[in-house]
Amino acid sequence: MSTTKSFAAYNKDESIRAMSSSGGVFYAMAQKTLSEGGIVFGAAFDSEWQVHHEACSSIQDLQRIMQSKYVQSSMGNTYTNVRGALLSGEKVLFCGTPCQVEGLISYLTNTIKDNAWKELLVTIDFICHGVPSRMVWRRYLREVSEDKKITNINFRDKTNGWRNFGLRIDFDNGNSYLQSQHKDPYMRGFLNNLYLRESCYECSFRGIERESDFTIADFWGVHTLLPDFFDDKGTSIILAHNDRAIRILEELSKTVNLCEIQNDVVIQTNSPVVKSVNRNSKRDSFFEHNGGKDISKYIVHSIHQPLLTRIKRKIFKTLHF
Ligand SMILES: Cc1cc2nc3c(=O)[nH]c(=O)nc-3n(C[C@H](O)[C@H](O)[C@H](O)COP(=O)(O)OP(=O)(O)OC[C@H]3O[C@@H](n4cnc5c(N)ncnc54)[C@H](O)[C@@H]3O)c2cc1C
Ligand code: SF4
Repeated sequence: MSTTKSFAAYNKDESIRAMSSSGGVFYAMAQKTLSEGGIVFGAAFDSEWQVHHEACSSIQDLQRIMQSKYVQSSMGNTYTNVRGALLSGEKVLFCGTPCQVEGLISYLTNTIKDNAWKELLVTIDFICHGVPSRMVWRRYLREVSEDKKITNINFRDKTNGWRNFGLRIDFDNGNSYLQSQHKDPYMRGFLNNLYLRESCYECSFRGIERESDFTIADFWGVHTLLPDFFDDKGTSIILAHNDRAIRILEELSKTVNLCEIQNDVVIQTNSPVVKSVNRNSKRDSFFEHNGGKDISKYIVHSIHQPLLTRIKRKIFKTLHF
């Protein structure tokens, strides 16, 4: 019998939802930790628009570590900083990929003798498609920005709705680049599994049961399965893996709308929860040839499928949903 319970969820505050990639449930958990005097660790952009983990101890700084960044986040000294905070008796909320969360838990287990830290640490991972190569992101960004200064990046812009999200890049001259996930070359390469980290294709951190307290994700099937929770502003799934997580969710019910769903619904609508994505057959040649200067054209060329293959795939998908 699984101890994990699954919920459809979204933040009651519309402005928080608009700022979040999905339903804004990470914000609710982070806000709770900060209000109790704790520290929150998550992924932020650095000055080069690469991604790294950093600490946040005030609600004003929380925005830096909100939103999905579809590129590998570097850990730097994060594990030792989390350890230091726990040893000083501070509450910590850590959010990262399932492999980062398991790595943190095993680091703490191996380096701290007593178990007091377990009461202080709450961990969140997410259903993880995989993380793309930092090198591809750097090259893509250089190309799309054409040397203009970037002021903000949102991989999950909701201007055209949560389901039809887009990659948005703002520049200091007031212009913006906004392209749907289905058209932006970088997002297409990511979603076609062309340049994920090698280990993501055979990921051992999947499954309904986890070591983390919570797993969060998008509830992509919500419009048909739970229409009352759908308004295209972002609905999340939360998996609560233990009794403490359930207690935290009860406390959060003032700020988050929750509805329990079956674990099977999560598997049905979000297969990466249990199954690694397929390795793109062009991955090796993509990295070997590297595409010269024009990375966008090279990505699109690499994932291009003949019309007949596309039609066959569409029929297969329709029959198997
Ligand atoms: C690389 C990646 C792959 C994902 N794959 C899936 C998927 O296949 N299916 C699915 O349903 N959801 C996936 N998600 C999760 C989804 O995009 C949302 O982050 C999630 O639904 C939570 O939304 P939110 O609105 O509650 O939180 P948000 O405010 O969007 O917060 C997101 C949290 O994730 C952390 N984070 C962001 N980027 C990274 C990163 N690169 N590395 C580590 N931590 C990061 C942030 O620090 C923050 O704590 C993925 C996220 C990432 C970053
Ligand atoms: S897919 Fe697996 S290995 Fe890749 S980043 Fe996610 S948890 Fe880590």
